[in-house]
Amino acid sequence: MTQASKSDTVDLLRALIRNACVNDGTVGSGHEHRSVETLTQYFGVAGTVFEPQPGRQSLLHRIEGSDPSAPSLLLMGHTDVVPVNASGWSVDPFAAEISNGFVWGRGAIDMLNVTAAMAVAFKPFLTGETPPPPGDLLYLAVADEEAAGTYGAKHITDHAWDQVGADFVLTEIAYPPIDLGGGVRYPVSVGEKGPFWTHVHSTGTPGHGSTPYGSDNALEPLIGGLASLFETPAVVGITDVWRDFISGLGLDPGLESELLDPDRIDGAIDRINASDPRLATYLHACTHLTVSPNVIGGGVKSNMIPDTAVAQIDLRAVPGQDRDDVDRFLGKAMGRYADRLRFEPQADFAATESRPSGSLWEVIVDACEDVTGSRAVVPTLMPASTDARFFRERGAVAYGVGMFDRRVSFPDFLSMFHGNDERVSVESVGLTVTMLERVLDRWRTA
Ligand SMILES: [Zn+2]
Repeated sequence: MTQASKSDTVDLLRALIRNACVNDGTVGSGHEHRSVETLTQYFGVAGTVFEPQPGRQSLLHRIEGSDPSAPSLLLMGHTDVVPVNASGWSVDPFAAEISNGFVWGRGAIDMLNVTAAMAVAFKPFLTGETPPPPGDLLYLAVADEEAAGTYGAKHITDHAWDQVGADFVLTEIAYPPIDLGGGVRYPVSVGEKGPFWTHVHSTGTPGHGSTPYGSDNALEPLIGGLASLFETPAVVGITDVWRDFISGLGLDPGLESELLDPDRIDGAIDRINASDPRLATYLHACTHLTVSPNVIGGGVKSNMIPDTAVAQIDLRAVPGQDRDDVDRFLGKAMGRYADRLRFEPQADFAATESRPSGSLWEVIVDACEDVTGSRAVVPTLMPASTDARFFRERGAVAYGVGMFDRRVSFPDFLSMFHGNDERVSVESVGLTVTMLERVLDRWRTA
C-alpha cells in the first residue's frame, strides 16, 4: 500500500462522514450534493451529475477503454447514511474523530470507507496517470441507497443505463475476515436476499368496548395469527452460495455436514447461538426465509371495538424462494386464523446472486493473495438489500469487496451496521484501498 493512498482515503472518508448525508427516507433528506462536491474537488475533474430531486445528486465518471469489445467494470459506492440516535454513541457520530486507531462515525463501514477507497483507487485512471483497462472503467457515487435507491441507483439504471451500464460491478458490502476454526477466510458478497414485505389485514365489526361478549374484534385473528407466526420455525433454503461458503470455511466435518443438511441446520445454529449469537443470527438469515413482524396497528379509541387491524411483516427470501413460498408459509404459520386474514404484498424482489467464478472473481482471488498472502476467498450472501440488485437484474456480475484487519470480528462487524459507534480501523481503510488498487491493476493487465 502506498502511504499516500491510505491517507488520502482516510481524509476522504472523514470528509464524507462530516457531510452527514443522512437519509431518513424522505425526499428532502440525504443532501448528497455535499458529497458530490467533496468528490468533485478530490478528483479535480467534473463528472456527470444526476439530480432527480433537489440535492439528491449522484456522480458518474466513465473512462473509455482501449477495446470496445472488452468487458466494462463499474465501481459503485453510496454516499448516504442512515440516521443515528446520538445518545447511544460514545462520540459525535458526524465528527469523524480518529481515536484508538479507528475512524468513528456514521457511514464508517456502510459504506463511506469503500466509496472513499474506490475514489482513490480510481483517480489515477481519471487523471491519465495509469493507462485505462481494455474495457470501460466507471466510478459511480450514488444517493439514496438507504431508501431503496429511488433517487439514486434505481433512477439512474432506469433512465441512464447507456451511461452506467457495465458488465461487472464492485460495490458493498465489504466483509471482514472470518475464522470459524478452520483458518482465516476472506468473504466476498456475491448475492443478497430478496424482500417480500407483506401487510396482513384483519377486519371485524365495530361496537362498544363495554359490551365485548360475542364481539367480532379485528385484533383477535391478527394477534392470534402473529402469535402463531412467532412460534413457527422459518423455512430453510440451502443455496449454492451457502454450500460454497460453508464448504470453503474448513469447518469440522461433522459441523459442516449439519450446516448443509436442511433437517439438521436449525439444531446446529441453536448450538452456535449459545456461544456466538451474532454469528448465529447471520447464519440463520443466510439460510432461511426470515420473517419479522415489525409494525402493528388497529383500533382508534379505548372504548371502541376495532373493525380493522394491520401488521407489517418483513420477509426475506434466499435465492430460489418466491412469493408462492411466502404465501404458503404465512398461510400455514398463521394456523387457524389464516382464513380470517388477508395478505397484501408490498414488495416482491427476488434474491439476486452472481456466481463466484469468471474473470473478475479470479482477479479478486489474485488480489486477495497480493494483499494477504492467502487465496482463501469464500463467497457469501448479504441478508439485506443493496444497489447491486439493479445491476444483477440487468445481467451484470456484482460483488461486494473490501479488506479489514482483525481488530473487529466478523460477528461484531455485523452488529455495527446501522448501529451505534460505527467505526473502521485506519489499518482496514488502508487494506481496502490496497485491495481495490490490486484488483484494478490486475483487471487492467489480465
Ligand atoms: Zn450500504
